Amino acid sequence: MQANIVTLPGDYIGPEIIAEAVKVLARVAEKYGHTFTFDERKLGGASIDAYGVPLTEETLAACNAADAVLMGSVGGPKWDKVPADKRPEKGLLALRKGMQVYANLRPCTIHPQLAGACPLRPDIISTPIDIMILRELTGDIYFGKRTRSEDRSAATDEMAYSVPEVERLARIGFEMAKKRRGKLCSVDKANVLECSRLWRETVQRLSEEYPEVEVSYMYVDNAAMQLILRPSQFDVMITGNLFGDILSDESAAIAGSLGMMPSASLGDGSKGLYEPIHGSAPDIAGKDIANPLGTILSGALLLRHSLGLETEAKAIEDAVAKVLDEGYRTPDIYSDGCTKVGCIKMGDLVAERV
Ligand code: NAD
Repeated sequence: MQANIVTLPGDYIGPEIIAEAVKVLARVAEKYGHTFTFDERKLGGASIDAYGVPLTEETLAACNAADAVLMGSVGGPKWDKVPADKRPEKGLLALRKGMQVYANLRPCTIHPQLAGACPLRPDIISTPIDIMILRELTGDIYFGKRTRSEDRSAATDEMAYSVPEVERLARIGFEMAKKRRGKLCSVDKANVLECSRLWRETVQRLSEEYPEVEVSYMYVDNAAMQLILRPSQFDVMITGNLFGDILSDESAAIAGSLGMMPSASLGDGSKGLYEPIHGSAPDIAGKDIANPLGTILSGALLLRHSLGLETEAKAIEDAVAKVLDEGYRTPDIYSDGCTKVGCIKMGDLVAERV
């Protein structure tokens, strides 16, 4: 197959981790007879330095024309003083909005080799944990109207959702649950918030179309608690932007290392934006010690969800598991008895094992 992939390395460790993910994807293309072209563009601080804005129209157009987009991370102290509307993170929000990717997939699994990095008790994680958190990405309180009183002593943020916004997200969740273990948990705060009541009613109505999926409803405060008390009960979780932001970071903490976690943001159709969940890690940039595995695993999600290449996606995930089995670790996941390697070497090891 032929595919055009736009890469957005971004800032600080971004270029280092993207280089390793591209190396692994190029190896997949070579082994399975595909042609992937990589079109590198600037985003965030790198784009501010080059063009004065965090995302140019040309870059957004290239992303929309591509089969998929692979991103590193943006932001950092160099651009802390630029005006709020031109911050690197604004480029990322504009990219998500511009690509109309409204569903953020955050898988949470614990690699058995890294179980020691999980902060939960061994008996809690003795049952396998394999959760897919699906967070709505372009609505909710993050995009609602904001006000601040003239004397600056009071403020409001509007939470808003519409039925179509909930429905399109929930549909992806139901479809995903069908292909996984057939369970879907919808998280809201329907005992208090009108938006949540609309959310729950919409999911309830949609559930009639998916009799094979077992649906449960949970208030967000209970969900936050259940994630640490009994995480293995969850299969697919769907939730709004605000609750999803918090719960998906909680799930990342459960998995043990920020550097290991991939994510995908999807819209209608197969196009998607893929990125590790961590930031640009300015404190370790340029030292060849960043963990590229979250970005490499985001590459696997890209193959699966945008290009429909399940075997190839699995080949990357298996190669990562093999490298961990063999005891190779970047410093962030290192423990006694393992072999410490840098970012470039880690990329080489995964590529060799694909
Ligand atoms: P961070 O995720 O960049 O770093 C937090 C800690 O985790 C740091 O100690 C860092 O060294 C470590 N870390 C992160 N990724 C790692 C990796 N791959 N390997 C090894 N260690 C890793 O969060 P932060 O320090 O709060 O943010 C730094 C910058 O990144 C900020 O400007 C922030 O706005 C931005 N940010 C961007 C994104 C994104 O691009 N999607 C996400 C979060 C934060």
